[in-house]
Amino acid sequence: MNRQDRGDRVIMRRPRIVIVGAGFAGYSAARKLSRLARGAADIVLLNPTDYFLYLPLLPEVATGVLEPRRISVSLPATLPGVRLVLGEATGIELDRKWVAYADPEGGSGELGYDRLVLAAGSVNKLLPIPGVAEHAHGFRGIPEALYLRDHVTRQIELADSADDPAQRQARCTFVVVGAGYTGTEVAAHGALFTDDLVERHPGLRDQPVRWLLLDLADRVLPDLDERLSTTASRVLRQRGVDVRTGTSVREATPDGVHLSDGTHVPTRTLVWCVGVRPDPLVADLGLATNHGRLVVDEYLTVPGHPDVYACGDAAAVPDLTRPGEITAMTAQHATRQGRLAARNIAASYNQGVRRTYRHHDLGFVVDLGGPQAAADPLGVPLGGPLAKAVTAGYHLLAMPGNRVRTAADWLLNAVLPRHTVQLGLVRAPAVPLDTATPELPRTP
Ligand SMILES: Cc1cc2nc3c(=O)[nH]c(=O)nc-3n(C[C@H](O)[C@H](O)[C@H](O)COP(=O)(O)OP(=O)(O)OC[C@H]3O[C@@H](n4cnc5c(N)ncnc54)[C@H](O)[C@@H]3O)c2cc1C
Repeated sequence: MNRQDRGDRVIMRRPRIVIVGAGFAGYSAARKLSRLARGAADIVLLNPTDYFLYLPLLPEVATGVLEPRRISVSLPATLPGVRLVLGEATGIELDRKWVAYADPEGGSGELGYDRLVLAAGSVNKLLPIPGVAEHAHGFRGIPEALYLRDHVTRQIELADSADDPAQRQARCTFVVVGAGYTGTEVAAHGALFTDDLVERHPGLRDQPVRWLLLDLADRVLPDLDERLSTTASRVLRQRGVDVRTGTSVREATPDGVHLSDGTHVPTRTLVWCVGVRPDPLVADLGLATNHGRLVVDEYLTVPGHPDVYACGDAAAVPDLTRPGEITAMTAQHATRQGRLAARNIAASYNQGVRRTYRHHDLGFVVDLGGPQAAADPLGVPLGGPLAKAVTAGYHLLAMPGNRVRTAADWLLNAVLPRHTVQLGLVRAPAVPLDTATPELPRTP
């Protein structure tokens, strides 16, 4: 409790803990804190949306396997004891201990804090390649996934009605840049998606549909175990995906892309999955960063600011299992770091002892669509339906809500044809690549 003297009255105020961002790190911190505090603290969660987004299943939303609400878990419904403030942090005054924010309807406000958790995550990474900012689309939020789902559907529909063979071919060509888990999953799911779409368009029976997956690295999934890479490459090859390693985009135009191997690929679709960079909020703080991520110590506190904690993609957390390195940007790390930030905040109020962050990877799962996946739980490499079962089970366990609905969608999808209409609600200008808020569509 904080003590405030007002004349001869002494008012005891509950400490206020403000968490910025309700992704893997912020959500886990809020949940853990609400359990530890049991009403003794005012826990405030500031986030632009009222849901936690389970990002690993975003490729399934983009390819019509899951509806977007399945992977959007309600914050008010699943975080009792936590107050949601709908808005986006626009500035932080560390000396005055204030967070300024803008709400979704143009209003603004300020939140004072006793402890602050910065968990604003990351946004699409940009590279200075001509035309990319104008013609590519990222893959970081629901608006981009909905855009891609509609866009791909529309390309197939327009190709069917086009008389010009060159235009048909361009519309039936899809280029994904970045063969990390996001790009690999988008291309693998995407190829199955367009197979289903083309089946419903007899006019395209003899029309080749191409998916290209590009990466400068010499293999797909370059950051994961080589055995996962081999499994994923085999599945992509079987689906006809043209994987080009050691290759990137030199220039993007409205009609296609010029590649670094000298070829020109006519296309109307360029999906940018080259990675992410920390949320711009971090850079604006004027504090030390490492690879753009906010420097924290092994207790997740910001040096010189013992009341400020940072975790997840936004934070450069020392990896005590690999001295000299920082932890990777993964959901696994973000979730565990969020929980530890909560524990260490409780310890700062004499509840428990603060601990350092130390976590060994427990393996990775990559869903490749249909009955295929690549996984290495506890270091054991798996492929095919067994990996798929492990992957689905892992996601259902890791999701903080909507599990039954998600599993039901998967079951229905296994026996019913894919739903393939485009609603056209999210258009290209609403999802620019260069945005600090991929979770919200841009309004004119
Ligand atoms: C398509 C995709 C698939 C992925 N698949 C996997 C996977 O299979 N396995 C894995 O381990 N990792 C995966 N990742 C990476 C993983 O999702 C991230 O490492 C993880 O989300 C990081 O958690 P976080 O809490 O730091 O950030 P996020 O989960 O991104 O959450 C950040 C939150 O902060 C909010 N926010 C941003 N700016 C502000 C602001 N100014 N004010 C208030 N709130 C703000 C955002 O709206 C968001 O809710 C994937 C990522 C993507 C994009």
